[in-house]
Amino acid sequence: MNQSRTLLNPDVVIVGAGVAGIYMLHKLKNMGLTTVVLEKSDELGGTWNWNRYPGARCDIPSLEYSYQFDEGLQQDWNWSEKYSGQPEILEYLNHVADRFDLRKDISFEEEVLEAKFNEESSLWKIKTNKENYESKFCIFATGCLSVPNKPDIEGLDNFEGQLLSTSYWPREEVDLSNKNVAIIGTGSSSIQTIPEIAKEIKNLYVFQRTPNYSIPSNNGPMDKEVEADIKSRYAEFRKENWSSGFGIASDTGEAFISESDINEVNGQLEENWKSNGLGFFGGYADIPVDPNANEVAADFVRNKIKEIVKDPETAEKLIPKYHIGGKRLCVDTGYFETFNRENVYLIDLHSNPINRIGESSIEADKEYDIDTLILATGFDAMTGALTSLDIVGRNGIILRDQWKQGAKSYLGLGISNFPNLFTITGPGSPSVLSNMMPSIEQHVNWITDCIGWMIDNNKSVIESSLAAEEEWMDLVNEIAGMTIFKSTESWYNGSNIDNKAKAFLPFIGVPVYAEKLEEITSNNYQGFIFDVSNK
Ligand code: NAP
Repeated sequence: MNQSRTLLNPDVVIVGAGVAGIYMLHKLKNMGLTTVVLEKSDELGGTWNWNRYPGARCDIPSLEYSYQFDEGLQQDWNWSEKYSGQPEILEYLNHVADRFDLRKDISFEEEVLEAKFNEESSLWKIKTNKENYESKFCIFATGCLSVPNKPDIEGLDNFEGQLLSTSYWPREEVDLSNKNVAIIGTGSSSIQTIPEIAKEIKNLYVFQRTPNYSIPSNNGPMDKEVEADIKSRYAEFRKENWSSGFGIASDTGEAFISESDINEVNGQLEENWKSNGLGFFGGYADIPVDPNANEVAADFVRNKIKEIVKDPETAEKLIPKYHIGGKRLCVDTGYFETFNRENVYLIDLHSNPINRIGESSIEADKEYDIDTLILATGFDAMTGALTSLDIVGRNGIILRDQWKQGAKSYLGLGISNFPNLFTITGPGSPSVLSNMMPSIEQHVNWITDCIGWMIDNNKSVIESSLAAEEEWMDLVNEIAGMTIFKSTESWYNGSNIDNKAKAFLPFIGVPVYAEKLEEITSNNYQGFIFDVSNK
C-alpha cells in the first residue's frame, strides 16, 4: 500500500523543530551523525511558532531565555525588551537555524504517526505522513506544552462563530474590533491575551474556572547598561542559573520569611512585585516549601488584587485561595486592571458553570451572544506529545499504555522498554519548573555526550532500567511532597485533564538535579543498561 514511500536511514531522527530540536540537530551534525528533524508545521519554533496569540511573551528575562552554547551568538544577538515577545523569539530561532545552517536537515509538514522499535535490528522504524525512516536513535524534542486541551463542553463543535485557540492562533491578523468575545480559561496564555484584546473589542466575557496569581511583568525596553554588563560576563552569569532552585538567575534567595520581620518581608515583596515578575519569590527560599511563609506571599498578592480591582465582588472572584505557585505563577501586563473596564465581564464557573455552547452564544448564568470564542484551556502537559501517537517499545508495548497509571521516566531522558529513545526535558526532569532554555541545553548536551560515549565504547543500545526509573520517580515525588506543589491541583500533576493519571511529573530543584545527573553520568551511566538486545 505504501509503495510510494521511501525508506530513509539517518543515524538519528529528531521529532520536533522547536528550541530543543534545532539545538539537538546542531550538536549531532557537529558529531558527524546523519540526522533529520521531522516537524509537523511548515515553520520551526515549536511553542513560539504555534502560540501567536496577542500579548504572547516569555516571562523569563530575554538575556536568560536564550541559548548559551555559542559565545558569538549570545554576543551578537540583541533583544529589544527585558521580556521578549513571541515574534522576536521566533525571529531569533530562525536566525539560529540560518546561522548554523540547520534548515536543510529539517523536514517540514511531516508528522510522525508511529515510532516502533525493532528488537531484531535494534532500529527505530518511524512512519510519518510522508515517509518511512529507520534510525538507530529516536529523540523526542516535542516540548512539554504542545498538545492543547480541548474542553468537553456540549455544543462546542456546533459553534458557528469564529473559534480561536491561544495555542493555534492564526498567522494572519485577526480583527476582533467591535466583536463580542468569550474566552474560556484564565491561565498564563489567557492572562496575557485578555488585556490586549479588551482594548479593541466590544465586550469580553471571561469564563474562569480557577483564579490565578499573577504578577506584573514591568516589561520595558532592554536596559543597555544591564545588557552590556551581562554580556561582559555572560559565561559567569549563566552559571547563576544552576545555583537557583528554578534555574532563573534573577530568582536566587536564601532568606526565610519565617525568620524575618514581617514589615521587612512586605517591603521586599513590594519590591519584587514592582520589578521581579516570575521571580516574585526572589529573596525567600521558604515560600515554595513552608505553607505559612507561602500564605504571607499569597496574602500579599490577594491584597494587591483587592486594591487594583474596583468592584469588590469581581475582586473576590479573582482571588485565588490555594498556595501561591502551586499552579504556575502568571505574569501580566495590566491583567487585574482590565476588569475595571466597562466592556469586561467575569463569569465564575464554580457558581455558574457553562451549560452549553450554542451556534452563536455561550450559556452559563445567562445566555451570552458572542461572535468569537477563544479557548485558552491549556495543554495535556508533559506527556501529551508522547502519548498522542503510537510509540512502540519492546514486546509491542505502547508508551501510552505503559504510562496509564502515571508517566515514569529515568531523569526525564530515558524510558524503560524504549531503548535508544531519548526525551528532551521529559517527565521527571526540572523542565517546566525551570528556565526551559538551559534545561534543554543541559539535556541536549547530555544526549550528545551519551551517544558519543556509546560510540567510543562500542555500545549500540541504551535503555534505562525499570528499577532506576522507579527509584527516580519516587525521588521526584518525595521532593514534591516536601513542597506546596504536590498539594495543589494543577497541570504539573495531570489534574487539568479528565481521566489522566494523577502523578507529579517535574523534578523540583535545578541544582540538585544537575548534581544527580553528573553523579549518575560519571558513574558509568548508572541505572542505564547497555547492549541488552532481548530482555
Ligand atoms: P493553563 O495554565 O493550563 O490554563 C488553562 C485554563 O483553562 C485554566 O484556567 C483552566 O482552569 C481552564 N480550563 C481548562 N479546561 C477547562 C474547562 N473545561 N472549562 C473551563 N475552564 C477550563 O494553560 P495556559 O494558560 O495555556 O498556560 C500553560 C502553561 O504554558 C503555563 O502555565 C506556562 O508554563 C506556559 N506559558 C508561559 C507563558 C509565558 O512564558 N509567559 C505564556 C503562556 C503559557 P483550571 O485551572 O481550573 O484547570
